[in-house]
Amino acid sequence: MEPMSLAAVASVVDGLLTDVPDPDARVTEPLVFDSRTVRPGSLFLALSGEHTDGHAFAGAAVRAGAVAALTRRAVGAPAIVVDDVLAAAARLAGHLVRFCLPETTIVAITGSAGKTSTKDLIAQLLPAAGPTVATEQSFNNEIGLPVTVSRATTGTRFLVLEMGARHLGNIRDLAAVAPPAISVVTNVGTAHLGEFGGQDKIAQAKGEIVEALPPHGVAVLNADDPLVLGMRDRTSARIVTFGTTDNADIRAADITIDAQGQPRYTLITPEGSAPVRLRLAGEPQVFNSLAAAAVAREAGLGVDETAKLLSDATAQSRWRMETTVRADDVTIVNDAYNANPDSMLHALQTLASLGCAREDRRTIAVLGQMAELGADSRAAHEQVGRIAAAQGVDRLITIGGDEARWMQEAATAAGGITAVHLPDQVSALELLRNTLREGDVVLLKASRDVQLQQLAEALHQTT
Ligand code: ATP
Ligand code: MG
Repeated sequence: MEPMSLAAVASVVDGLLTDVPDPDARVTEPLVFDSRTVRPGSLFLALSGEHTDGHAFAGAAVRAGAVAALTRRAVGAPAIVVDDVLAAAARLAGHLVRFCLPETTIVAITGSAGKTSTKDLIAQLLPAAGPTVATEQSFNNEIGLPVTVSRATTGTRFLVLEMGARHLGNIRDLAAVAPPAISVVTNVGTAHLGEFGGQDKIAQAKGEIVEALPPHGVAVLNADDPLVLGMRDRTSARIVTFGTTDNADIRAADITIDAQGQPRYTLITPEGSAPVRLRLAGEPQVFNSLAAAAVAREAGLGVDETAKLLSDATAQSRWRMETTVRADDVTIVNDAYNANPDSMLHALQTLASLGCAREDRRTIAVLGQMAELGADSRAAHEQVGRIAAAQGVDRLITIGGDEARWMQEAATAAGGITAVHLPDQVSALELLRNTLREGDVVLLKASRDVQLQQLAEALHQTT
């Protein structure tokens, strides 16, 4: 963070310095909300969560070197006391953007799926054009955004921000703090899952990211997703489209997927074309990489350089289609990071395409529940079960409670697939140990709280 005195921070956030021996002491490091990650010079945000209250850790944060804490009340340690810590963090971030980062180009990314993948690719391309700071992991909400902004300094040329939208207005608020010059929308949803309703609403919420653009800004839109393309009417910024359709500005042709699930394609831009060979698994990565290429082009990178950087880019997050091959030639695709109906569909498509890559190969999907689907939950789980069958996956193993069983029952009813339901990962491990054979490919996917990476790790130790 650009150094700022506590007195200056207090004035920006309209807070009261409390127990502060030296108002001129400066915040020099980014905002942190976990006292274990404090560094000398940090400003600690005392956030109140469901289970913990950050105020209890303010003292520890200061002992670890934080200059002060941003709090709602006095804590017996140096603090800036405000009414609302998150709102104060947003105000501070907004101030930093406006006054300390006038030369920084903000790139904002949203979409139903692929935000992090696209952000991670952009973050591996833009350093070729200038110093870049990007969101870590999926810190894409009202907490993560101010933290990321505070990691930038005056030398930062590009600030790449993942923006998540749970509700209408979320992105509008995030973009008000950090107004983008380039906005990327990866997708809104998948036609197959349209019955889960609300796609127009989702498009409404995600489109706030293009409404935030100034007229000289750039909207990077997915030409293959009609709801994303429709966002062109919500901004006067320049439109750049990406996709596989002929009329996309940045497009992929001759897409093939190799036996590891890694796509190859020809990147075609108005300035020329170049071959790309991704090290990331799954066809959706073609789209993510096209979006990243469109942003790189705006940053002045040429098509050859972009294609090379894309081909060198690696997965930055664990448990996301993390593909490894065991010594006995069993391929494990660990996508245990999270799951929703869209990403389930794409992961199953990728699994099916891996199956086609070799004749002797069996495809096995090990799936757990998708969380937070509310009233749609049963229909969504049954739909995923039917998709597994329709994609020609050979075997389905579902693990857990009713939600998992709904997938198994729907798959069995659809036919053409062997589907079993098991209560837990231990029994799944046992079954896989006894049945896996050379050439097989196993996909593991569920919502994060299922912790399916444990099974992935156990499978690696079983050869
Ligand atoms: P989150 O909302 O959890 O932050 P995200 O939008 O950041 O998710 P990623 O983490 O990039 O998304 O990808 C999550 C999963 O979605 C991947 O493992 C993959 O299965 C799938 N996915 C990635 N990119 C796309 C895409 N462009 N289209 C559809 N599915 C995708
Ligand atoms: Mg993410």
